[in-house]
Amino acid sequence: MERLFQKSIEEVGRFYRFSEEELKALENVDKAADEMAEGEFEHYLRHEVNLDAPKIAKKYGILGIPISKEYGGLGSNHLVTVLAKERLGQLGLGFSSFFNVQVFLCSLSIQKWGTDEQRGKYLNAALNNNIVMAFGLTEPEAGSDPASLKTSYSKKDGGFVINGTKYLITNGSIADYIIVFARSKDNPAETSSFIVDANSNGVSRMRLSEKVGLFTSDTGMIEFNDVEVPRENMLGPVGKGMHVAYSGLLNGRIGVASGCLGIIEGSLNAVMTRSRERVQHGKPIGKHQLVQRHIAEIMQNLQMARWPTYMAALQRADYEKDPGNRALIEEAELRTAVAKRIASRLAFESADHAVQVFGGFGYSLLSPVGALFCDSRVTRIYEGTDEILELKIASEVLGKDFEAYR
Ligand SMILES: Cc1cc2nc3c(=O)[nH]c(=O)nc-3n(C[C@H](O)[C@H](O)[C@H](O)COP(=O)(O)OP(=O)(O)OC[C@H]3O[C@@H](n4cnc5c(N)ncnc54)[C@H](O)[C@@H]3O)c2cc1C
Repeated sequence: MERLFQKSIEEVGRFYRFSEEELKALENVDKAADEMAEGEFEHYLRHEVNLDAPKIAKKYGILGIPISKEYGGLGSNHLVTVLAKERLGQLGLGFSSFFNVQVFLCSLSIQKWGTDEQRGKYLNAALNNNIVMAFGLTEPEAGSDPASLKTSYSKKDGGFVINGTKYLITNGSIADYIIVFARSKDNPAETSSFIVDANSNGVSRMRLSEKVGLFTSDTGMIEFNDVEVPRENMLGPVGKGMHVAYSGLLNGRIGVASGCLGIIEGSLNAVMTRSRERVQHGKPIGKHQLVQRHIAEIMQNLQMARWPTYMAALQRADYEKDPGNRALIEEAELRTAVAKRIASRLAFESADHAVQVFGGFGYSLLSPVGALFCDSRVTRIYEGTDEILELKIASEVLGKDFEAYR
């Protein structure tokens, strides 16, 4: 098993007792990451979406870790899913982003908000990866303020008709089903969410390829023109669409923070090798003290990012046992925002240190750190920008009366 990953499992094992099944699942995650690694590098160089991600995830059965056993998952603590995502993040964020959306944003939202029929239909298929899912919240004019979304739904023949555009959607052009958030045409104060079959008439999609990084992850724009959705595909109660969205983001942000731990570990792995092998001024660069400073910074970043992320994941179990408890929800919001804010900044900084240790070669996608650097930047934007998280943290401290972002 990959060394840093093994160490993370041991570290968590100091305060969490893994079941045999959980350890086996983490071993499978490690194998999946190994199998993914080589192809991922090639696809990244060619700026191509890597469609092996869903296939390899299916082969190793790694998409059901936090999903209840009743629906075919492992029913594990979030901490185990965090470790899984941490391992995937070592490759960069292609596989990791696919996993985040499929598991943290979509499957967990369906588990929490779905009817028995929806859970039976979509969860098993999603975790066996017979279907790919996307989470369609952002629009061209509604990003940090998703509550201002314009996509609309109206009632028709016992179902609904959806019109609008979703923008920057991970898995957007490959998904079979999209969770879509839309505003009622009859009552604009009401936002609801729907599971939409991506092959329905009126759905058109375009891949957005001109990104700064994250080349192996699919990002799409999706247009809905009079798309008919059956009544039974509404996800969650009428008018609770933003509750569904925010609870999905609460999970997704822990997932992003865990991917960031992987970026930091990937950076550390790469500099450990390079600083021993690369010789300048007659000795390995790792013997130059200023190079050691970069290595020390990355190691410190790993420690600083790890604990808020693990603690946020651990606290989630309390919150899920008592989901109506306001104090636990607020604690979850605060811990998650802090974890993502810290881990994403430190992932970006760590990849930057790693590029510096590699010198000119580091500024190339041919090096093992180029993709980590390019991919890490988006973690400060998606699923809550730095600024929105800062406002959230401050309002959790000062109280809701000080909420500055609504
Ligand atoms: C690769 C990628 C994948 C993505 N995947 C998904 C996905 O799967 N599903 C999905 O729904 N979305 C997805 N997104 C969208 C992402 O969540 C948004 O980009 C993000 O929420 C920011 O919105 P925006 O880009 O519209 O920026 P804007 O909202 O326009 O923000 C621009 C700047 O203004 C700041 N700002 C905005 N409001 C405030 C405020 N009140 N106070 C202080 N500063 C403020 C922001 O922090 C930011 O710095 C993805 C984005 C990317 C880049």
